[in-house]
Amino acid sequence: MKSVPKYDADLHCHTSASDGESTPEEVVLLAAETGLKALAITDHDTVSGLEDAEKKARQLGIILVKGIEINTDGDGKEVHVLGLSMDEKKPYLKKKLVELQGKRIIRINEILEKLKKLRVDISYQEVLIYAKGESVGRPHVAQAMVKHGYVASFKEAFDRYLKIGSPAYVPRKKITPVLAIEIIREAGGVAVLAHPGDRILDSEIKLWINEGLQGIEVNHPDHSKQEIMKYTRITEKMKLIATGGSDYHGSGIKPGIKLGGWGVGLEVIDQIEKAKAK
Ligand SMILES: [Zn+2]
Ligand SMILES: [Zn+2]
Repeated sequence: MKSVPKYDADLHCHTSASDGESTPEEVVLLAAETGLKALAITDHDTVSGLEDAEKKARQLGIILVKGIEINTDGDGKEVHVLGLSMDEKKPYLKKKLVELQGKRIIRINEILEKLKKLRVDISYQEVLIYAKGESVGRPHVAQAMVKHGYVASFKEAFDRYLKIGSPAYVPRKKITPVLAIEIIREAGGVAVLAHPGDRILDSEIKLWINEGLQGIEVNHPDHSKQEIMKYTRITEKMKLIATGGSDYHGSGIKPGIKLGGWGVGLEVIDQIEKAKAK
């Protein structure tokens, strides 16, 4: 049975091209079955799922917004920047993403070295099996650890070994938010500050607007009612696009988060298209 979703557009979700459970085609199919009219696929640091997703979206008659989520380091804080409606074939974007993938690979190998010293012996090749797509990350290490019985669960892998402050943690080698904004804008996309929560200062937002930031993700499962109100006010005051999405990864990875459970109306797609022209 088709249920009527609360929103027409979900502008934030992940596929197996990064750390999501389902393939790009499966996620687009799910979006159509859920009754969404538009979906943005925003995998971490990769656009490799977009081609398949676009084909499927065309078949099913839903709007695919070609996106990305770039993980950045804003003065020691983890800042995520969404790129929406990009031309993913632009050479500068491609070059920068190759650099980012390289940084991920170095980091994962450093984590595996640390694990080895802790008598957890997982090879990089094994981790790659779980990464399926391109964007290899800690969740794939955790999956390999569960498979080999080093830990009982995904959560235990993070709590005991992989999370910040634990013995096999290695900080990401990330780019700055300003560079992420530049990369996205150069590829013709709209740059949006993803789920800022309570970590971002108003002064930082002002700085990033000067560097080309055009939107803030307001409606997101991590946001409290107060945060949604706060960022709605800021987007109105600063004339920014207020976006929203579920940050769907699949029920095994983020239980309780449903595709289309967070989102925006279709008018936001028009706002994005207009902002691109600027
Ligand atoms: Zn994020
Ligand atoms: Zn995300």
